[in-house]
Amino acid sequence: MKIYNTLSKRKEEFVPVEPGRVKMYVCGPTVYNFIHIGNARPMIVFDTVRRYFEYKGYDVNYVSNFTDVDDKIIKKAIEEGVDADVISKRYIAECKKDMEALNIRPATKNPLATEEICGMLDMIGILIEKGYAYVAADGTVYYRVRKFKDYGKLSHKNLDDLQSGFREIKVTGEEGKEDPNDFVLWKPKKDGEPYWESPWCQGRPGWHIECSVMAKRYLGDEIDIHAGGEDLVFPHHENEIAQSEAANGVTFAKYWMHNAFLNVDNKKMSKSLGNFFTVREISEKYDLQVLRFFMLSAHYRSPLNFSAELMEASKNGLERILTGVEKLKELSAKAAAGEMTAEELENKKRAEELVAKYEAAMEDDFNTADAISAVFELVKLGNSTASVGSSADYVNGIKETLEKLCDVMGIITEKKEEMLDSEIEDMIAQRQAARKAKNFALADEIRGKLLEMGIVLEDTREGVKWKRA
Ligand code: AMP
Ligand code: ZN
Repeated sequence: MKIYNTLSKRKEEFVPVEPGRVKMYVCGPTVYNFIHIGNARPMIVFDTVRRYFEYKGYDVNYVSNFTDVDDKIIKKAIEEGVDADVISKRYIAECKKDMEALNIRPATKNPLATEEICGMLDMIGILIEKGYAYVAADGTVYYRVRKFKDYGKLSHKNLDDLQSGFREIKVTGEEGKEDPNDFVLWKPKKDGEPYWESPWCQGRPGWHIECSVMAKRYLGDEIDIHAGGEDLVFPHHENEIAQSEAANGVTFAKYWMHNAFLNVDNKKMSKSLGNFFTVREISEKYDLQVLRFFMLSAHYRSPLNFSAELMEASKNGLERILTGVEKLKELSAKAAAGEMTAEELENKKRAEELVAKYEAAMEDDFNTADAISAVFELVKLGNSTASVGSSADYVNGIKETLEKLCDVMGIITEKKEEMLDSEIEDMIAQRQAARKAKNFALADEIRGKLLEMGIVLEDTREGVKWKRA
């Protein structure tokens, strides 16, 4: 299996640290709002990577954090007049709902930064002891990048080039730094902010240290894959390497994988540009399986432009696959017992070649775009060769293969049960009753359940209206 490694800038054969096991760490979102579909790209891509390893029989330990202490969370908490953890808990719950709707397998562990402070204090202490970090007069702890000789190896940057870039920038509040490239490991609290005790000052951790500590705690000092969006290469992942390798004394991650951006009009979809759609918004227009299929229709290292046309094309493509599987299910019920015919044996061989093509695409740095074309060919083969009276072995063979290959991509082939109008109206009445009783949690849960069944509610002046998505 070949994986493109950002570290070496080439595809490398995958050799796990421990045979039969994969230890993966994927940087998760900062939770101060609903996630947008750009944030969903790494979630979908690396869940698919995980699923493929599992399909190949590996035991995957998949860890992905939530950054639950951060300036943006604090800002939102001040705006709403609540504690920061009210904001982070709320959006972690919402993010988990979105991930479930995107059929993302739950991680082995989703650590929270605020629950790992002890480990961060330990690692920062070790870095100070070894001379890789220093304490400024105000209690801020900085990482001394010049001490780490490999600094820049991931982002292929040179410290002196970085230095000349920094000379132009006057940073206030960071006068205690020995070098402009040094970064914060621990910083003093400001009024009204959450803080923890430490040997250096009451304060909170920098962002980079949390991932080094969580990866170490839940996966060990040496991991196989560390992943995230390409904006994380520098400085986040570069700094993680500097921290982990200096503290632990061994190579941190063997393979560094980065997805390209989801763009809108060739610009990165981001909160700051305001050109984003939340996963929740998209779920009101499309089944989220369509979004998942859309994301996998391009190679993860290629930029992908989001557009209504491409979503429509993905919707049609997905429909073609699901209808193909549905037809095979019907034929399976009417299939004949007994041996496969010579022609069926021939076609079965063709199907096996397509599975090999699918696997070859996935093993070439997870080329899901080519893997999907193999799935389309398999659907076509099924459509053109299976009919009433085909042997059960043949029909079931193709059907089960398709189901398995779709499952690797996280595509659910089971058709959703259609709800009857009367059942929908009953649930809407229950939601109204819950709202009247001010049980908003229950009301939201009912709305969520309806959404999962493809029913979108709209609260209007004339009452609640609903439609099928
Ligand atoms: P953040 O909450 O901004 O730290 O982002 C969480 C994850 O989403 C990171 O891996 C980012 O690299 C990734 N990400 C954010 N925006 C995009 C985008 N437009 N396209 C692809 N990945 C993104
Ligand atoms: Zn991280």
